[in-house]
Amino acid sequence: MIDRQTIDKIIDTADIVEVVGEFVTLKKRGVNYIGLCPFHNEKTPSFTVSPSKGICKCFGCGNGGNAVNFIMELEHLSYPDALKYLAKKYNIPIVEKEQTEEEKQQKTKLESLRIVSDYAGKYFHRTLLDTEEGNAI
Ligand SMILES: [Zn+2]
Repeated sequence: MIDRQTIDKIIDTADIVEVVGEFVTLKKRGVNYIGLCPFHNEKTPSFTVSPSKGICKCFGCGNGGNAVNFIMELEHLSYPDALKYLAKKYNIPIVEKEQTEEEKQQKTKLESLRIVSDYAGKYFHRTLLDTEEGNAI
């Protein structure tokens, strides 16, 4: 898990114009930037980036969001992977949060349950195929 402070730092540091600008040629229009939407085919630019709000939005297809949402959508990444992508771009060291004892136990419990249910699944499968009773069904 990426810790909260690192997430905040990534979101604070990521410059929406820079992030989007890597994929879309942006032109300044008033306080905003505008370019061709990377999410749908268009000839007239309707993809707007607002540096003051730190968000982007396409008025054609509705896609957009902050820098993290943009990378998630465009690169088909999960939220943590999009954060890691931006952290790498801005040389922000990722601090992975240590799991608490409780979280570790929860995980161990889940893994045990998975093993048990795996075993049970195999057992029933075998019983169904390899015994007379099973074959009768
Ligand atoms: Zn669009």
